[in-house]
Amino acid sequence: MQHDIHPAYNVVTVICSCGNSFKTRSTLDDENLSIEVCAKCHPFYTGKQKIVDSSGRVDKFRQKYGNRSGKVFSDKSSDTAEAA
Ligand SMILES: [Zn+2]
Repeated sequence: MQHDIHPAYNVVTVICSCGNSFKTRSTLDDENLSIEVCAKCHPFYTGKQKIVDSSGRVDKFRQKYGNRSGKVFSDKSSDTAEAA
């Protein structure tokens, strides 16, 4: 390793939005690191669905397409009424 070219590699405390925290090492200047998702709360590990939807896009999609489950060509009157 060459001298004076590597950044400081310190211990940082990672704090997740779910409340979980753990320590790791990083070249980050700050000693705290805030994250939105971690291994304790990520859907891959919990097996539960979690949607980060701040602007309501999922609700808009469900309003627009949610009533079409398996019935594409039936109930046309409600589709045209909703589009207007
Ligand atoms: Zn978390």
